[in-house]
Amino acid sequence: MSEDLKSLDAELEKITGRISIAPDETRGDDPVVSFCRNCGKIVATKKVKSRRGKTQEVCAECGNDVAIGTEKSIKNYFRISS
Ligand SMILES: [Zn+2]
Repeated sequence: MSEDLKSLDAELEKITGRISIAPDETRGDDPVVSFCRNCGKIVATKKVKSRRGKTQEVCAECGNDVAIGTEKSIKNYFRISS
């Protein structure tokens, strides 16, 4: 696996820890992902500062807001076939 994927993993760990979407014991089966509506796919995110000085996760490709959730719920919601 590339360094990019490793750092994405680390990012997702941080996201999971911060907003605690899923209990720890389900994390392995259902990882937290970020979905960009603009790109129409699951994307990597980058951190940007919003106008209010808050740090925000946006799509690394287009800079749009992303929906963050478990892979299962995101795929369900956006009807992504895997
Ligand atoms: Zn995007």
